[in-house]
Amino acid sequence: MIVTTATEAAPGRPDNEDQVFQHGPVVGVLDGVTAPDLPTGCVHGPAWYVRRLVTRLRESIDDASDAPLALLLEQAVIRVRGDHPGCELDNPSTPAATVCLVRADAEHLDYLLLGDSPLVVDRGGRAEALTDDRFDTAYAPIRAEALRGDVPLGSAEHVARQRTAALRKRELTNTPGGYWIAAADPRAAANAVTGRLPLSGPDAVRRAALLTDGASCAVDTFGLFDWAGLLDLVTEQGPGELIRRVRAAETADRDGYDRPRHKRHDDATVALCRFGA
Ligand SMILES: [Zn+2]
Repeated sequence: MIVTTATEAAPGRPDNEDQVFQHGPVVGVLDGVTAPDLPTGCVHGPAWYVRRLVTRLRESIDDASDAPLALLLEQAVIRVRGDHPGCELDNPSTPAATVCLVRADAEHLDYLLLGDSPLVVDRGGRAEALTDDRFDTAYAPIRAEALRGDVPLGSAEHVARQRTAALRKRELTNTPGGYWIAAADPRAAANAVTGRLPLSGPDAVRRAALLTDGASCAVDTFGLFDWAGLLDLVTEQGPGELIRRVRAAETADRDGYDRPRHKRHDDATVALCRFGA
């Protein structure tokens, strides 16, 4: 497995709340979740949370690199709880993160998904995005209400709508019937979407791209290319080029009238894994 990565904070933001790592056979991309203006009960914040979670994932992998990915994540979430015992860990806005993990062995690629960080795979020449659909399904009506595209990004009305959406979203977080995400509740790990794909034979995975939504928006928000086109761009011109294209699209639609979204720019992360000859 050959891995190339790029990650970049949103322009003007001091902290990148995305993380990307490769540790032994595991590659991961995570996106820290911010709850704008809502009390979180945590003095640390999403950038700290996502960095701690990666540190604890690396330890879990060192302890048992071939354990199920959900078990590695569960152990990491439990350990991060222990890293901030003084914070209110049952606060519904406690820092959280999406998780997209893959692990390659000689024959298979295992994956784990939580939240809206997709895995795009090229299998036998066909590109498809593997996603955790529960987030989209649960959040779609809230999103439609918050992002009507009739007020400019960053305006008082836009900000007020994002806050209302965040309040409604947190009622769905880590609840059956809502969606699951890595936060303080280790049960999220057992509720992750997991699967195994072949690395040999006619349907073998040749390439896999792990993306945060700040990068997958190239396809599903801005329509710059399809998933096959995204994989080709990242393969031929590198992960950083995908982020550059996203920044140009974000800047071209500053007010978000054409492509309604929560933020003008978002942290963006790409990890490309290539397999075989
Ligand atoms: Zn804390």
